[in-house]
Amino acid sequence: MTVTGPVEGQNLGVVLPHEHVFFNHMLEYRGDGLMQDERLAVIELERVVGAGGRTLVDVTSGGIGREPEKLRRVAQATGLNIVMGSGWYRHPFLDRAYFDTHSTDEIAADIVRDIEVGVGDSGVRAGIIGEIACDQVITAAEERSFRAAARAHLRTGATISTHAARWPIGHAQLDILCQEGADPRRIIIGHSDSVHDTDYHVSLAERGAWVEFDNIDGQSAYDNALEIEFILNLVRAGHLGRILLSQDICLRSQFATYGGIGYTFLLTDFVPMLRNAGLADEQIAILLEDNPRRGLTGDD
Ligand SMILES: [Zn+2]
Repeated sequence: MTVTGPVEGQNLGVVLPHEHVFFNHMLEYRGDGLMQDERLAVIELERVVGAGGRTLVDVTSGGIGREPEKLRRVAQATGLNIVMGSGWYRHPFLDRAYFDTHSTDEIAADIVRDIEVGVGDSGVRAGIIGEIACDQVITAAEERSFRAAARAHLRTGATISTHAARWPIGHAQLDILCQEGADPRRIIIGHSDSVHDTDYHVSLAERGAWVEFDNIDGQSAYDNALEIEFILNLVRAGHLGRILLSQDICLRSQFATYGGIGYTFLLTDFVPMLRNAGLADEQIAILLEDNPRRGLTGDD
């Protein structure tokens, strides 16, 4: 499900599975974390289409500035498929009053409504549950957010995408989601490359989850080499079919307009690096097209 309606899996093409188009991270990043300019978003996303991208997943969840109607207009203006997120971000961004007055099942029901009916009266429907987030530990409110995500997943079949940054918290996230009955093959553990531990990556893949390397932002040659090492390690371990790649654009300074990498670094710069590292074009197509299609739709 995209913000402009359903799209067949075979028509998703090259997918960026973890990005943000509109975003409000002012609590932590001041002005650089506010992305709300619709015209600028169109300029940046036209570059994605120009670089061969067909689909972008905007995992902007509750509390960080999701903009359903703007997303729909930007998708219409660019022709890009945009999949919208739902559910809740990290504890500091949670709507505390809402969490204090709604049961976990009620929170789940609101996620289901986003997916089946649309957000508010916009008619814009979410196509993924996420990013569902915690930090180094899972707080009590975040645990309810994860349980609500799992229950909404069971009712709708929508995939869950998480934020598991810097700390190897992906296993604890999977524990809660799977305890609720969620299928690990429909769970994407986000920011896995921010945990510099290849055994952790393999252990997530062995549980059947998607291991998402979504900080491919070209900050340094060292970082690029590290990302390639992480990918090759999982491929050697037999998990090519569990890897997702993206850039997690979430700061205005990352836009190409301001000299940043834009949303295209992965496609224009990083793919040639993967080829140089020995990956075949068919393997790269699995990473950019087959895997995200399977991750989003559940098809094999
Ligand atoms: Zn995140």
